[in-house]
Amino acid sequence: MVLLDGKEVSRQIRAQIALEVSGLIGNGKRAPHLAAVLVGDDPASQTYVSNKEKACREVGFLFSVYRLPDSTTGEELTEVVDFINKDNEVDGLIVQLPLPPHISPTRIIEAIDPSKDVDGYHPLNFGRMALNLPSFLPATPLGILKILEHYRIETDGKSCVVIGRSQTVGTPVSLLLSRKSTPGNCTVTICHSRSHNLVEISSGADILIVAAGRPEMVGADMVKEGSVVIDVGIHRLTDANTKKGYRITGDVKFDKVAPRTSHITPVPGGVGPMTVVSLLLNTLKAYKKEVYC
Ligand code: NAD
Repeated sequence: MVLLDGKEVSRQIRAQIALEVSGLIGNGKRAPHLAAVLVGDDPASQTYVSNKEKACREVGFLFSVYRLPDSTTGEELTEVVDFINKDNEVDGLIVQLPLPPHISPTRIIEAIDPSKDVDGYHPLNFGRMALNLPSFLPATPLGILKILEHYRIETDGKSCVVIGRSQTVGTPVSLLLSRKSTPGNCTVTICHSRSHNLVEISSGADILIVAAGRPEMVGADMVKEGSVVIDVGIHRLTDANTKKGYRITGDVKFDKVAPRTSHITPVPGGVGPMTVVSLLLNTLKAYKKEVYC
């Protein structure tokens, strides 16, 4: 069994990005610049934004964060998005989700200039992705493609089961792996909370991608011998037997499943680090105007 080491792969990609950025700066150019908008004081969102800031700074990107109170209206937030859209010194713009319940995330995402939409959530980017046209790919699905690519995992003609149909993970990764592309050309089945016979379906997969948000729901009976398992889930479970009092786990029972697989991502250290580095790759793409000229 080969461990798909997202930490190491992302380290290598970050080193390449940092080298490219230092070359740009050495040639008198400005650094790529990512702006994040954070509404309210949700601790998880604050942590996500500070992780993104740290990752940006480490590779030499500029990073700005616009912190707005929970009471911000949809109109006010749209104005901030519009202001950043017009700033020629900002390449990428992300609005940290979730937003407070009184603000429609769809409206806000639609207000982002698609050429700065490095999260790849704007309908124009999502549509272009589905049509196999140049676009910003959502970070987690892009990270999954990058890890498959790095380990030269054959996807052509393989049967791929994706558990989960969220707009940010399950649905886009299903589209990406079914596209005429490399990685891609899979025969994809999408499962979700209303699916019947999940065990039967998932245990037929050559490549199983789990993004259900259910701690350790996938056991050995759901996995085909010799398959590739990508665990997107991330959970903190109370565990009195550990020093910290908790342990981090995924949607897969790693100890039971890993021996059956040919390749598997650990949690932590699998998909998570690949997600952050994918945002950096998209920001660099936006800076270089590779998607929209
Ligand atoms: P989500 O809650 O938006 O979607 C979960 C999906 O799983 C839904 O489509 C639902 O229908 C399906 N589902 C739920 N229970 C199921 C069941 N018992 N059987 C079959 N399908 C079921 O979640 P999401 O945003 O896609 O995230 C999924 C998990 O991945 C979460 O644990 C999240 O924290 C994690 N995540 C990790 C990263 C990362 O970078 N590592 C990024 C995004 C999400």
